[in-house]
Amino acid sequence: MPRVYLSPPDVGPEERRLLLAAFDSNWIAPLGPDVDAFERELAGRAGVAHAVALSSGTAALHLALLLAGVGPGDDVLVPSFTFIATAAAATYLGARPVFVDCAADSWNVDPDLVGEELDARAAAGRLPAAVVPVDLYGEPAAYDRLAEHCGRHGVPLVEDAAESLGSTYQGRPAGSFGTAGVLSFNGNKIITTSGGGALLTGSQNWAERARYLATQAREPLPHYEHTAIGFNYRLSNLLAALGRAQLAGLDGRIARRRSVDERYREALGGLPGVSFLPRTVGGTSNFWLTCVVLDPEVFGAERETVRLALEAADIESRPTWKPLHLQPVFAEHLFVGPGRCAAVFERGLCLPTGSGLAPADQERVIDVVCSLHRP
Ligand SMILES: *Cc1c(COP(=O)(O)O)cnc(C)c1O
Repeated sequence: MPRVYLSPPDVGPEERRLLLAAFDSNWIAPLGPDVDAFERELAGRAGVAHAVALSSGTAALHLALLLAGVGPGDDVLVPSFTFIATAAAATYLGARPVFVDCAADSWNVDPDLVGEELDARAAAGRLPAAVVPVDLYGEPAAYDRLAEHCGRHGVPLVEDAAESLGSTYQGRPAGSFGTAGVLSFNGNKIITTSGGGALLTGSQNWAERARYLATQAREPLPHYEHTAIGFNYRLSNLLAALGRAQLAGLDGRIARRRSVDERYREALGGLPGVSFLPRTVGGTSNFWLTCVVLDPEVFGAERETVRLALEAADIESRPTWKPLHLQPVFAEHLFVGPGRCAAVFERGLCLPTGSGLAPADQERVIDVVCSLHRP
């Protein structure tokens, strides 16, 4: 039986066709007609005026924070419960991430803690340079309250929507909240270009600045003229062609991940000691990953026992994010909150959720998890 992966790329004939069409047209360069079209299609899908296609989601975060004015010595509020890229981007600019706990009813950053932290920092004259909420595993953060707190203090909000393309909050697409939004097309995300990302923004000025900085800050002159230091962050035209085919199939991918999620909830939701990633009130998810929390006392097995049993059956699963405030590299950093995300990390497990997951393979996953339940 073939190995079952957590979230493998799901590509088909249309991806192959567009990729080869770009190849045959000889647009192998970074930039080209597929990059332009991919940007227009992404902007349309995310409901923003501008999308800038980039080499990774991390590059997009870096540029978004740079454009937000983050610089050396600044603080940036980020969730502790996320992938390291969210915080790493702040460190590239010499800024210091300050980690905020998740909410009691969500795995996303707690808007109340963000509000209290901003109030306390405003009183002390130490406001952060930006706040970067993440839409974890596809569930959108509480943007109504987050935007209110940031707006009250004039602090830019950058949305890390790397995991949430296709999700919505209060009817608005993920990626469209804040001064800029960030997408990732890494191999395990809901759509992939094998590697890539995008910066989304309503501001034409930001989009132009992002394109300029992503192409080595080259001035529009025949020779190479530079008045600033930039980066080599643009997406190749070949990969943009792949991305266009993936984006055209986004709704189908969401529908398939939704049925995978529904099957897990139906098969495992009744087991004592099993709970699921909380759903955002007022939001819709792209169902990127299905995550469960296993209470060992009630379920009868530790998360790690379940993960190892799945591995023995050649099934890939992964603990939920290890909180960044517990990462050795951030040992000296501030953490705000009671530590709820650490409790989720101890017990949380992401299950195989790929849009190409065969029903028979999903039953293999379910059988292993059920077999470890000890009443
Ligand atoms: C994947 C991811 C990123 C980084 O995207 P890359 O394209 O891999 O650089 C950033 N933030 C979050 C929350 C992610 O899941």
